Amino acid sequence: MENHQDLPVVIVGAGVAGLTLGLKLAEAGVPVVILEREKTVGGLARSFSYANGATFDIGPHRFHSDSDRVNRFVFEILGEDYHWIRRNSTLFLFGKYLPWPMTLANVVSLPLPLLVQAGLDLFRRRKARTDSFEDYIIERYGRVLYRTFFQPYTEKFLDYTCSNLHRDWAVTGIDRATIDKRVDTGSLWGVAKSVLRSNAPDTQFIYPRSGGIGVFSERLAERITRLGGRILTSAPVAALLSEAGRITAVRTETGETVPASHVFWSGSLDTLRTIGCAPESVPRLHYMSTVLFNYVTRKRVEPEFQWCYFGDKAMEASRACLPRCFNSALVPEGKEGICVEISCSEDAAAWRDPARLDCVVETFLLHAKMLRSLEDIEDYHVEHIHDTYPLYVLNYPRKLRGMFAWAHDSWDNLSLLGRCGRFWYNNMDHSIEASLTVADHFLADKAGGRLRHGRDYEAEDRYLEGASP
Ligand SMILES: Cc1cc2nc3c(=O)[nH]c(=O)nc-3n(C[C@H](O)[C@H](O)[C@H](O)COP(=O)(O)OP(=O)(O)OC[C@H]3O[C@@H](n4cnc5c(N)ncnc54)[C@H](O)[C@@H]3O)c2cc1C
Repeated sequence: MENHQDLPVVIVGAGVAGLTLGLKLAEAGVPVVILEREKTVGGLARSFSYANGATFDIGPHRFHSDSDRVNRFVFEILGEDYHWIRRNSTLFLFGKYLPWPMTLANVVSLPLPLLVQAGLDLFRRRKARTDSFEDYIIERYGRVLYRTFFQPYTEKFLDYTCSNLHRDWAVTGIDRATIDKRVDTGSLWGVAKSVLRSNAPDTQFIYPRSGGIGVFSERLAERITRLGGRILTSAPVAALLSEAGRITAVRTETGETVPASHVFWSGSLDTLRTIGCAPESVPRLHYMSTVLFNYVTRKRVEPEFQWCYFGDKAMEASRACLPRCFNSALVPEGKEGICVEISCSEDAAAWRDPARLDCVVETFLLHAKMLRSLEDIEDYHVEHIHDTYPLYVLNYPRKLRGMFAWAHDSWDNLSLLGRCGRFWYNNMDHSIEASLTVADHFLADKAGGRLRHGRDYEAEDRYLEGASP
């Protein structure tokens, strides 16, 4: 009989987490099969190239890490194929483009009553009574900033009231929006001090030279394939075949059955719940998805930005970005690419029938002064992106614990991986770092001839410790 230890390790999902892990295992001589639902690799960090010569990422994708190990890994994969770019992000507030993070010169241009009220909030503290996003933000930044920016932006983005959202959405989101650690965004005092210091931080990050951010995943995939690993794209996993609490094989919707010694799952927990035939009592976790409207226009946008946040509830989109400002080769000479992100659930009209919304998106582009005339639009493409954000509602820690417990009790050889698999509002570098660590542990145990339970090859719980139920 075949020893199951000799069967391939199956990784569900060819995002940066699955590919990083796949490469480390393949380098160590472990047979690997990666199954990917989409046509291309890269997951949320993939790129779309169109016949008109324009390339778009999924919104803005900058790479930055404080970890030497992650940086070394990324440089090794990209070789010479990267350049450093300066951060140029903005906020559209009161009809103006303002740099983000803000500087003193821009803050003074805001309406005086708003500044006075926000200034008073420095001395009016309200202690958080619950774990809600609303209480967290008001405690740290005061009511005025909450009402002016955080609340309308977040409620538009998630279509959920802030009092029903968990503070983890704020903790992770704000930390990720400010990668420069010289900018203290932890409180209103911190923000005020950073603004008074006045100099906009000169944050730099790296980006591929030869294409969009998807180049990184393509390079990983090439290496895995060269080492004998298999990557099947357009192969959504439809079933996990198991015996006595172990997954023995993974079946795709295309009818392929891949035997498995161990399975790393980086797809959504909701899909796992469905294909794993979880009983009704297993809680459901929800993800937001995103519809991208990728426009190619004949006139360039001014002022330039890499990405811009739109807090105003009356404006349809939450964020737009200009691929040219990441890499000028992404857009044909003299043209502009504009990516507008509309986050929604998959039963929303925007997801089901985006063509009905394009007029609203184009009006948004006019109001935001990114377009002067609709005649300047040359072309546009719509992309549906599944599971872009975990939805951190107030009771999510309890549900997530229930979901993890069910998955771990159901199979001994399944490990949850990456952004969706860990329900983790993270960045690429976090997924890469976690996969490098998981690979270390898995390979060390494999070399020792004894693998542990699947849960032992997962990144640690970041927020569940100490979170209220
Ligand atoms: C709009 C946006 C902007 C972002 N900006 C940045 C940024 O500037 N910098 C940064 O570092 N990070 C950014 N991120 C985050 C970054 O994209 C993610 O952290 C990272 O790509 C996650 O990689 P992953 O492999 O963990 O997950 P994913 O990329 O989600 O990979 C999971 C993979 O599993 C596949 N899959 C799912 N279900 C199945 C199934 N049933 N069968 C087979 N395959 C399946 C999916 O198709 C996907 O390819 C951004 C994310 C978004 C959405």
